[in-house]
Amino acid sequence: MIPFSPPHIDQAIIDAVSEVLASGWISTGPVTKKFEKELTAYTGAQTTLCVSSATAGMELMLRWFGVGEGDEVILPAYTYCATANVVMHTGAKPVLCDVGDDFNIDPKAIARLITPRTKAIMPVDIGGWPCDYDAINALVRQPEVMAKFKAATDEQRQLGRMLVLSDAAHSFGATCKGRKTGTLTDLSVFSFHAVKNLTTAEGGAIMFHLPEGFDPEELYTRLCTLALHGQSKDALAKTRSGGWQYDVYEPGYKANMTDIQAAMGRVGLLRYNTETLVQRKAIFDRYSQAFEAAPWAITPVYGSKSKTSSYHVYMLRIKGVNEDERNEIMHEIYQKQVAVNVHFQPLPLLTAYKNRGYRMEDYPNAYKQYACEISLPVFYNLTPEQQCTVIEAVIAATENVLARK
Ligand SMILES: *Cc1c(COP(=O)(O)O)cnc(C)c1O
Repeated sequence: MIPFSPPHIDQAIIDAVSEVLASGWISTGPVTKKFEKELTAYTGAQTTLCVSSATAGMELMLRWFGVGEGDEVILPAYTYCATANVVMHTGAKPVLCDVGDDFNIDPKAIARLITPRTKAIMPVDIGGWPCDYDAINALVRQPEVMAKFKAATDEQRQLGRMLVLSDAAHSFGATCKGRKTGTLTDLSVFSFHAVKNLTTAEGGAIMFHLPEGFDPEELYTRLCTLALHGQSKDALAKTRSGGWQYDVYEPGYKANMTDIQAAMGRVGLLRYNTETLVQRKAIFDRYSQAFEAAPWAITPVYGSKSKTSSYHVYMLRIKGVNEDERNEIMHEIYQKQVAVNVHFQPLPLLTAYKNRGYRMEDYPNAYKQYACEISLPVFYNLTPEQQCTVIEAVIAATENVLARK
């Protein structure tokens, strides 16, 4: 079976993890701090805080901004459940927005959903393709839109408008006009989960790119505390003489990254541009070349004059098929020993959101994209022969199903 996206673990990663294990310090410590600095240097963001997951990072930042009961946060109907769940955990309401043909949140649709309760917009870079941030950033700065914003906390008053918090779980290393994700919106949260391009097994990073008036260093210090129970000292600082005594400033969360995770991430980051992105792009190119001629194929956009993708998910669409036919195609591909996937089932199709009254009919383009989408295997060690097997399986399965229509 050709798997969908196994992690790229080799001796270099095993050695780096072993070194941390042997060092005697395995939780948050010097390796995590180094990884944060390297991540900041890579993207050019103001600063980076590593966390235990993208989910934890997004919730932490919503809480930092004071989002809660009575507030609304706009996010795409087409995303992984984490984006909506963190909003619900704060007590706020996720307001779902339809998407465009590139799978990303539609800025024109966002404008219609803004109310005086809207505190934040959470665009998601689906598949690694950055959203239209020029439009989204301009929207939140429009005088009519700013006038609707009701600031209720110091952070909200300081920003003076809706926060743009991007769920950049897929898009580490993607660019827009030469600038990397992490610097395209106020806050970006990356995921280093096992299936993502850069992995620490579980983990994530928050990057700041806030306007003047916010002090990134001060914010970093505050968030380190907030991500560790509100403690004035972290575990490493407590090991020093006199370090036993600490204070708790606020009832914080537990979302810190360990040095074991950071050690994996540092190795991945070192080869990210030279190996990971190069190999992933080569696989995307190979797939697109193979399918472009097929009358039934809609190949994904992963490059343009202004944007480059991080090549996270290769999202093929089959023209003119319904959901059942797409499922049949996937079944036939599976029978040829190729693991494929769907990214994503729009949230209104899932019980938790259906039960809260979200209806699929309200997001017609999200459904339309989902119904004909198949994600293909992309991973570092996918060999040219395996790529060929994937392509042949997809073509044979699709043509079989289309022929039976
Ligand atoms: C993977 C993913 C997340 C969650 O990342 P974790 O690090 O597992 O919390 C959030 N949003 C999207 C779009 C994802 O694909």
